[in-house]
Amino acid sequence: MDDIMKKYVIGIDIGGTNLRMGMVTQDGELSHFIKKSSSVLSTGQAVDALEEQISAYIDQFDARNQVNAIAIGIPSIVSKDKKVLYSTPNLDGFNNINIPDPLSERLGVPVFIDRDVNFLLLNDIRQCKLDESKTILGFYVGTGLGNAICIEGKFLSGKNGVAGELGHIPMYGLTQKCTCGNIGCSEVLCSGRHLEELVKTNFPGTEISNVFTLHGDDEIITRFVTDLAIPIATEINILDPDYIVIGGGVISMCDFPKEKLIQAIYQCARKPYPAENLQIVFSKHTPQSGVLGSADYAYSKLAIQ
Ligand SMILES: [Zn+2]
Repeated sequence: MDDIMKKYVIGIDIGGTNLRMGMVTQDGELSHFIKKSSSVLSTGQAVDALEEQISAYIDQFDARNQVNAIAIGIPSIVSKDKKVLYSTPNLDGFNNINIPDPLSERLGVPVFIDRDVNFLLLNDIRQCKLDESKTILGFYVGTGLGNAICIEGKFLSGKNGVAGELGHIPMYGLTQKCTCGNIGCSEVLCSGRHLEELVKTNFPGTEISNVFTLHGDDEIITRFVTDLAIPIATEINILDPDYIVIGGGVISMCDFPKEKLIQAIYQCARKPYPAENLQIVFSKHTPQSGVLGSADYAYSKLAIQ
């Protein structure tokens, strides 16, 4: 960078629940990390709300002249040119709207956006030191089922930008309605949302955070875990990946039975390959992962501008 005073990018991770921000140096060093409720953005005016939050953050740390770029990860369907958010179920005002162009104009620095799961996988690839030139699949079981596909260093985006909606592949025999409006998507079963319902119905009085510790061997919970393997193995059988990264809030819960999930994936994977030499890596997910992944993305975009 020609201006040595500008030493940070701002990484922003917007989830259904939390908004996280941090300043990250080119070496990946994170500082000024903050977390607040993402409801501050749900005003119906996405660009105004983001501008207000980011400006306040920059002023709080007196960093007006030190920021090179801003990258924002959002749990949305994002257009192929990474300009328009098509649909963000959990945030009011984040549907069919261009975010980076008006925000960049108002803040005076480049602004980049993409799906949050792409930034999570990017961060996991770096943290786990995976070879980016390979085929790498990321599966993130949180509130829903997130999926990112990285092939030879490029994130697959498809014709419209919506590739990797593994949570919305139709499964045989399911009749429940999904949050997307369709019937019988994999996410109806493979999601934290479903786990929460299972706990409420079958283990009243158990905190969801303890469910694997207290009921990990129960048939219902075992079924939940083995069902996760069905969409995961489906994509593995299609793309024959070099690495599989698994993470997300549900997988990070205490005593989640990782071995049981690995076994179920193996059972559903085609023999002899890709089943025989699957390389499964569990994400080293932290509350800062999304912010670091966003910042990584911003640096990679700045490098090619
Ligand atoms: Zn769906």
